[in-house]
Amino acid sequence: MPDSERLYLGLDVGRTIRGALVGCEGHIFTQRRVVAEVSDPQVFIDQLVDTINTLNSAEEADGRVIAAGIGWAGMVDQRAQHVEVTPNLVDISAFDLHHELERATGIPVIFDNDANVAAYGEWRTGAARGFEDVFYASMGTGIGAALILGGRLQRGSRGFAGEFGHFKIDMAGLECACGSRGCLETMASGPNIVRRVREKLFSDPSFSISQLAKDMEGTLVCERVFRAAMEEDELALSVLRETGMILGTALASIINLLNVEVVVLGGGVMAEGEFLLGPIREEAQKRTMPPAFENCRIVAAELGKDAGIIGAALLARDSHKDSFLAGN
Ligand SMILES: [Zn+2]
Repeated sequence: MPDSERLYLGLDVGRTIRGALVGCEGHIFTQRRVVAEVSDPQVFIDQLVDTINTLNSAEEADGRVIAAGIGWAGMVDQRAQHVEVTPNLVDISAFDLHHELERATGIPVIFDNDANVAAYGEWRTGAARGFEDVFYASMGTGIGAALILGGRLQRGSRGFAGEFGHFKIDMAGLECACGSRGCLETMASGPNIVRRVREKLFSDPSFSISQLAKDMEGTLVCERVFRAAMEEDELALSVLRETGMILGTALASIINLLNVEVVVLGGGVMAEGEFLLGPIREEAQKRTMPPAFENCRIVAAELGKDAGIIGAALLARDSHKDSFLAGN
């Protein structure tokens, strides 16, 4: 079959399982989503098998699916193709899921973590296209990141590199879910942006006129903070400005350390990224060695929520090609 007719499956697995049938250049033909089962591992595995089999038997697939890529919200041992830790999902670490999925679907599968596949998508068809040295960070409920250096995705020795969310920014900071303290995630993730809005409102009476004050009784979500910022709410603007400064400080260390050409920022928190990008750039510039900053752009991601499914499929495309060429 000519390369141009080959199709791939891309799955992005978190609290929602998203799967897509993707063309060899990253075009999405069809997609499916299902809320992930969080208590029964066998039901969860059946959901994954069903997602792959349904996409593979879709009319558009036409027997042309070559391989599937899966990005996991968690830590994946790259060498063993084993999912080690999935903080917000059912615990599947005891299963040989890679073998199980290949057996149940008859399709070669490749695992990676969700930030790596999203970065791969942005690198191949999105905001990092054409660059060789890229830092990608995804900001949502958690903060993940991926590194492309010298034109290769770098995963570290076992696949655990890129845990940018657990970058230490405050020695005396809050306890983090990882067991440490003062991680970037404890300040700049979606839920922590909301936490800081609440704290600021209670500690500074001048913010009591904020439109967010009346939301405090119910569930305040990060999207609401961005909406308030669009309406020029001072409290929302102040917390987002500060969030940008925190992220800019963390990114300055990345730029100083790695001298990347581009920093791509994605994830749900960046959906209204203009409130963050300005302060991020300003703060990063103050804290980066000037020649390294001048050589580096800081931009918003382009593929939105599809980065993971497109990237997982393209990673499957390129990995399959590599192993084929290597004679495996
Ligand atoms: Zn942490």
